[in-house]
Formats: sequence, C-alpha cells, structure tokens
Amino acid sequence: MRHLAPHPAPTELTNANPPLPPDWSNPSPEVRQAKRAIRDKLYRHQFGLCGFCEGSLGELGRHTEHVEPKGGIGGNPARTFDYTNLIASCQGEQKTGQSADSCGHFKDKYIRAQGTFLLADFVSPREAGCDLMFKYLSDGRVVPSAAQGTDEYRRADYTIKVAGLDCNRLRNRRRQIAERLIRQIDRFQNEPHVLQQLLNHYLGTHPDINGEQVLIPFYSTRKQRLAP
Ligand SMILES: [Zn+2]
Repeated sequence: MRHLAPHPAPTELTNANPPLPPDWSNPSPEVRQAKRAIRDKLYRHQFGLCGFCEGSLGELGRHTEHVEPKGGIGGNPARTFDYTNLIASCQGEQKTGQSADSCGHFKDKYIRAQGTFLLADFVSPREAGCDLMFKYLSDGRVVPSAAQGTDEYRRADYTIKVAGLDCNRLRNRRRQIAERLIRQIDRFQNEPHVLQQLLNHYLGTHPDINGEQVLIPFYSTRKQRLAP
C-alpha cells in the first residue's frame, strides 16, 4: 500500500460557502464541481494508482472512496466531504452478475456481510507508515509485515480481508510481475547500471494519455523486489 502523503484539499471544497451538504448524491453544481475536483486531485496525488490494490485507475475505472463510510453500517455522514477521509479506488473486477472482487466496492459488500466496520483497525492509504505494514511476497500473496499476535498484524490482516487485497486475481497478477522481475534481476545481477535502469523505469513516473504523471501498476510489489 502506497502512502498518500498529506496535501491540501481542492479549493472547490475548502472555499465552498455555505459548506457542502453531507450528501454525496446532491445534484447541485457546487457538489458536482467539488466531486470532480476531488477525483482529479486524488488521481494526481496517487499517480494514477488505486489506493488499495495499486492497479491502474485508468484501466480499471475509478470512484472516490470514503474510508469511513458516508452511510450504512459504520457510516458517518459528517465526513462525506472530509478530504482526509477520501481516496481514489478502482472498481475491482466485476464479472457479469457478480460484484467487485477487491477495493472500495468489495469493502462495502464485506462490511454489509459482517454487519460491522472496525474503523480503528482499518489501515487507510492516508495513514503514515501504511507502506511498511504490508509485505508483497514473490508468490503474489500480500501479508502483514508485523509478527502475528501484534496490533499491527491484526490491523493489516483486517485491511487485507476488508479490501479483498489477497483475492485470486490480484495474487496472480502480482505473482506474474514478481516472477518476471526476479528473472530480470537474476539476469542483470552483474550489471548494476542495467539494474538501476530497471529500478528507474519501474519505480518512476511516466505520462499517461492525458499527460498526467502516473506510476506503473503494482508499485509496492515491484519496489519490494527492486529496492527492498
Ligand atoms: Zn483497486
């Protein structure tokens, strides 16, 4: 999980006067403009990657996710337009007749099925240190970094379950990436300049079709192989 570093909320949100109503679906132009500004700013600051799975928002589709839900079980409408509660999530993969297998929409489904949401146990991409709480293994699994029995382990484990981060699709994708990288690292192990080029390429930003700087998907999987 990449850490989404603190940055100012869009002015469409901070300058709204009167303040925006706690209603995400409100059809007013002010609410629609604020939602668009939030969406664009999160995309930029997350470098085009889903805050949960690190898939490409451009490829998978995206929505603005309320880490603390805005309604329903565990809902807190007061944080509907609290920017620190918002991240960009992909739509997960949704096959015909099935609901999403990971990320924001899966989280909603999981919370409904459990009948509870443990906010204090859920690790948000906005939480400092979140990038150190997950290990991406070469077989594609994601597991808590901390030792079993610790609070950190419990929180990371809960987050993996709530956001579906270890679903088969993501696991397979990460395994393919890790295996390819391991082969490349082995092949070029005596050529440090090539390894440095690989690192710069895979962990650096590149312009998307609109000229926004984005990262290559599954950044943390790559980083843990190239620059552990
Ligand atoms: Zn995702």
